[in-house]
Amino acid sequence: MYDIVFVSKVFTFSKGYDFPIYTKEIIKGGTGYDLDNKLPEEVESICPDYSLYGIKNTAYGFLTRGCFRNCPFCIVSRKENQRSTKVADLESFWRGQPNIKLLDPNLLACADRVELLHQLLESNVLVDFTQGLDARLLDDETMYLLTKIKSKRFHFAWDFESESDAIIKKLQDFKQYSGFDKKKLSVYVLTNFNTDFSFDLYRVYRLKELGYDPYIMIYDKPNALRNVRLLQRWVNNKFIFRTVEKFEDYNPKLG
Ligand code: SF4
Repeated sequence: MYDIVFVSKVFTFSKGYDFPIYTKEIIKGGTGYDLDNKLPEEVESICPDYSLYGIKNTAYGFLTRGCFRNCPFCIVSRKENQRSTKVADLESFWRGQPNIKLLDPNLLACADRVELLHQLLESNVLVDFTQGLDARLLDDETMYLLTKIKSKRFHFAWDFESESDAIIKKLQDFKQYSGFDKKKLSVYVLTNFNTDFSFDLYRVYRLKELGYDPYIMIYDKPNALRNVRLLQRWVNNKFIFRTVEKFEDYNPKLG
């Protein structure tokens, strides 16, 4: 019999573990269950035991938590904090592995961003900003540091119509500053939340013009309209997207 079993899930729609467990105690947590059950500070900040999952070449972790934007489709501000704050130094979860996967929700919103970007730069290994970067917060210093950090791809996001001018301006700045090819520059395009299809299409074409690779994200996908799902198939399958210029020419029967 186990002394204690921890069960977690990320999404409310994820299946739980509904089978009998031979244990004295079960603790359930994670955003899929609720936002209240938090890990003790010493557990939250411990270096992960990567050997449990046979992970040798990649370090995973958070340097910051929280985000001030409070986007209505996102749980981060409610779950963590309505402010991005530093929670760790890189060395707390990185032990020289050749890859770092950062899970920070909005690193650029943190007051300590420059110090943290320096830590990533000095690691001199490949960094993946898995949750994307907030283009609206780019400035000369962060652009300089980001372009010096080794990374295969930079992801940004363009979610709302109201912020289009600010986002386009910063994407133009970053493109010009970095000179990176679109293979290295990607933008998440949120659909099926509060945008109409014409704005979805506009963002795809505009990003292409700006030299960025759009990537369609669908909110509440099971209830998305067919057009939105086709848009996702057309845009996210890069072979099709590069060979079929216009959405109206995309024939889903061919791919
Ligand atoms: S900016 Fe990103 S992390 Fe922050 S609330 Fe919006 S979606 Fe969430």
